[in-house]
Amino acid sequence: MRGAGRFAPSPSGDLHLGNIRTGLLAYARARQTGRRFLWRIEDLDRVRAGAAASQLQVFRELGVVPDETPLVQSERLDVYADAIGSLAEAGLVYECYCSRRDIQQAASAPHAPPGAYPGTCRRLGEGDRERRRAELAAAGRQPALRLRTENTEITVPDGLLGTITAPVDDFVLRRGDGVFAYNLTVVVDDAASGVDEVLRGDDLASSAPRQAHLGRLLGAGEQSWLHVPLVLGESGARLAKRDGAVTYEQLSALGWKPADVFEWVWHSLGGDSAGGEVLGQRPWSSLDDLVDGIDFAHLRREPSVFLPPTDAATVPTGSAPDL
Ligand code: GLU
Repeated sequence: MRGAGRFAPSPSGDLHLGNIRTGLLAYARARQTGRRFLWRIEDLDRVRAGAAASQLQVFRELGVVPDETPLVQSERLDVYADAIGSLAEAGLVYECYCSRRDIQQAASAPHAPPGAYPGTCRRLGEGDRERRRAELAAAGRQPALRLRTENTEITVPDGLLGTITAPVDDFVLRRGDGVFAYNLTVVVDDAASGVDEVLRGDDLASSAPRQAHLGRLLGAGEQSWLHVPLVLGESGARLAKRDGAVTYEQLSALGWKPADVFEWVWHSLGGDSAGGEVLGQRPWSSLDDLVDGIDFAHLRREPSVFLPPTDAATVPTGSAPDL
């Protein structure tokens, strides 16, 4: 099977221009490298009714249609349960009864990387487990499930960042509220779809070592990553709805067309400054321009700033932040 890239937005609301830029880059990368471009609806948490459909519609208006029917995570609960089952058979899963507060208050384990799960529930005897399980059940809760790891740091290569090193601790596979954890579902789904390269926002870079480790345990093929910079608002914080007209729907209402989005992406990647050689001299006005124009080997690593327009007369451009 040909490899694949993907875009996997959470359907928690309308996509803002930063999310759209990441999705367009993922699409361009898949097209340039001959991979399939897939879309995944990560709807196990924070779902807003109708958001998944409107996110897909925005991309359709921009000319991007996924190569296969999107995978919907809420339809795949058995698959995630099976993956945990196979890890459990290998002795790699244990129940954790800790609350967030318990974890914060526990002394960290010796030699564990900072921020790692301190291992409180790792070695409990069956008697203690029964007692803690019953206590949680009385409060209407259930234990989380954690992966047993070597508690080390792992380094993975990244096409933009060089390498990513992050702790791989006993991370959660199924949360205490019964929801399958992000790190598990991403790995299971990428493997099922043959996603061998992931382009996504660099806010998720520190998850890649955990996901690489879990992928190896589940026998998934090796992946590579490209974590792209986020788009920031005027304050220097990541772009958000509170910054103003940031969604495609809002920008359309102010007169933006798909060509304005492509042109803005060009500016945001440095197309109006030193990026001329990397991105071509002329602003992009079509999806094909973007697919043909990006040189991923030299993609800008700095975040961009988006200053939302306040009325139809203002068409803003992306620029390097003055931080
Ligand atoms: N659903 C995640 C998000 O919207 C992305 C997951 C991923 O790309 O690995 O932030």
